[in-house]
Amino acid sequence: MPGEKVTIALAGNPNSGKTSMFNALTGARQHVGNYPGVTVEKKWGHVSLNGHEVEVVDLPGTYSLTAYSMEELVARDYLIKSKPDVVVDVVDAANLERNLYLAVQFMELGVPVVIALNMVDVAENRGIHIDTDKLSRLLGVPVVPTVARKGRGVKQLLGEAVETAHRQKKWRSLELSYGPDVDKALLELTAKFNGNSLAWSPLQARWVALKLLENDAEVQKQVAQDPGLVQHMEPLRQKLSDHLKLTMDDDPEGVIADYRYGFIGGIYRQAVQETRAQRMELSDKIDKVLTNRLLGPLALLAVLYGIYQFVFWASEIPVGWLEEMFGWLGGLAEAGIPEGFVKSLVISGIIDGVGGVLGFVPLIMFMFFAIAILEDSGYLARVAYLLDRILRHFGLHGNSVMAMIVSGGISGGCAVPGVMAARTLRDPKARLATILTVPMMNCGAKLPVYALLIGAFFAASQAQMLFALTLISWGMALFAARILRWTVLKGETAPFVMELPPYRLPTLRGLLIHTWERTWQYIKKAGTVILGISILMWALMSFPALPRDQAAAWDAKVEAAATEEVRREIEYQKGQDQLAYSVAGRMGRALHYLTEPLGFDWRTNVALVGGFAAKEVIVSTMGVAYSLGEVDPEHAASLSQRLTREPGWSPLSAFTLMIFVMIYAPCMATLVMIRRETGTWGWPLFSLAYNTIIAYFLALAVFQGGRLLGLG
Ligand code: GDP
Repeated sequence: MPGEKVTIALAGNPNSGKTSMFNALTGARQHVGNYPGVTVEKKWGHVSLNGHEVEVVDLPGTYSLTAYSMEELVARDYLIKSKPDVVVDVVDAANLERNLYLAVQFMELGVPVVIALNMVDVAENRGIHIDTDKLSRLLGVPVVPTVARKGRGVKQLLGEAVETAHRQKKWRSLELSYGPDVDKALLELTAKFNGNSLAWSPLQARWVALKLLENDAEVQKQVAQDPGLVQHMEPLRQKLSDHLKLTMDDDPEGVIADYRYGFIGGIYRQAVQETRAQRMELSDKIDKVLTNRLLGPLALLAVLYGIYQFVFWASEIPVGWLEEMFGWLGGLAEAGIPEGFVKSLVISGIIDGVGGVLGFVPLIMFMFFAIAILEDSGYLARVAYLLDRILRHFGLHGNSVMAMIVSGGISGGCAVPGVMAARTLRDPKARLATILTVPMMNCGAKLPVYALLIGAFFAASQAQMLFALTLISWGMALFAARILRWTVLKGETAPFVMELPPYRLPTLRGLLIHTWERTWQYIKKAGTVILGISILMWALMSFPALPRDQAAAWDAKVEAAATEEVRREIEYQKGQDQLAYSVAGRMGRALHYLTEPLGFDWRTNVALVGGFAAKEVIVSTMGVAYSLGEVDPEHAASLSQRLTREPGWSPLSAFTLMIFVMIYAPCMATLVMIRRETGTWGWPLFSLAYNTIIAYFLALAVFQGGRLLGLG
């Protein structure tokens, strides 16, 4: 709209060439004064472009947008209060990484930004080649190369600034990820803003929360004016601060800055080529190997394989202890509670149900410990960086990797936070494709199923099996994503930036805390949700009870049993008869026609139905289904022993079941989260159907293929 006035705020690090740029832009029409209330000099000038009147305001030169110095405060206050149409950030191309730190902070604030990539002549001379288009795409803001001293590129810069001012009327802040701890605190803080009127609105709540975590005195003052708000904020801020001190031996400012530099570092790697050897820091040296195209993936596979070896090796003995402990508890209940439904509820519903899940706590714990090492050291970010190249071909985004790892990409994890982690994806279609495929990862709830079946049928090659399952889950997730991106989610993938924060030596305390936090989540879930579903499943498996005459007939047979051996066998038969008669048993048998070609027994179907609610329930339900009626715990075989003796089971059917469990319907909690993140019930329902159908046909192919090969 010609005639409309446009205000440009000129910003930049000291010595970036800002003064030269200001002069080149405004020529002689300059004014000098002070910013209100402070002694910082304010210069402004006017220029016209194609009938637009453009005012250029020179901000003080700063390195950052914190509130540490008068200059920074003035610059920030001006932006927030006067709301210029666009910020032109003069960046020294020869010191790009350091200079982009300020640019990223403007982007976090949300003001429309154009970058003047100044001193490109100096950069070229030093052998630094910058791909301007790529830089612009990765940052998501226009970048214009300039040589301010000679006036080169200044016209284009002005045109770009005016155009950006017209195109982007709304402020839109860049939402970086600052690592799991800070991100979580940010979410909690921003939630607290709802309903509170901040003096600085309409600033994004997330920015204010970020500044609070960075210990920004100005923002703290503002927030303190609302007593209701500050009362919520301070404890949260303190909690995060203590947590980071404990786990990373750093404060929030340090961690946040690291991630900003990580973001910039990721961009730098992609957009800049240096011909002359530059200083190589330790992180860079390590990365030369670990993110190398050839060595990187090999190292990654070796790390994964090592983890699985370690986890099974370390957890074998404690898992055995827990198994004995729950056996002992069952024995106590057996002896102490009179015959009847209460006894059956306590033993089958509670001890077997919850015990089946808790029994795998050591395995889960060691897995989380290994993941904590990878995460705290910064290696996980490298994994994302490496896989990024592969993911692109499947229409996913570099940031999808994190969501997948959170969901159990290494094994052990949960799709609920995984679906949430997909928020860092700015491309809506890649985000949806990620949300719909992360439930295929091997979450902590599927691990007990694997551990049970691997222990029973593949005891000689436990780590190899889990390794294979990991590769299969990634393969399937990528395959499913590719199909989605070819069909319902067609479209280009937006460019992305991988964050590469520097390596850190993890602290033992940090590792223990991170391990414990997640393990405790698992235990808590077993004690609440899983307990509830387990009792519900028990009820479905116990009612309706056998009709009186049938029960009496069984009892008579038990009475007449000649030996103890025979009596136990008859008791077991009776239990199975009861199960078949129950609601769950009828469901399992009704599904038999569908699952027979997959090699599943009707009791497995019962467990799979329970697994729709939560996958942990699969093991516990199988435990109940295969042991109902077994009354003598002294002689009861463990579930894995029993499975190996069941006629319908073979390594092939166990493998097929693991594949099916891996892919089929996401659990209830994940579906609810998908609903929350996508805003409709359509996507969770789609996910339910899509995943189950893929699982069915994959399992069918595996089982029937295996049989053809003579493996059944
Ligand atoms: P300020 O501190 O950011 O205001 O930077 P100045 O505008 O004072 O510039 C610092 C020095 O860099 C001066 O000597 C300028 O002449 C020089 N300079 C500014 N822009 C460029 C450029 O694009 N290329 C080169 N080679 N020198 C520049």
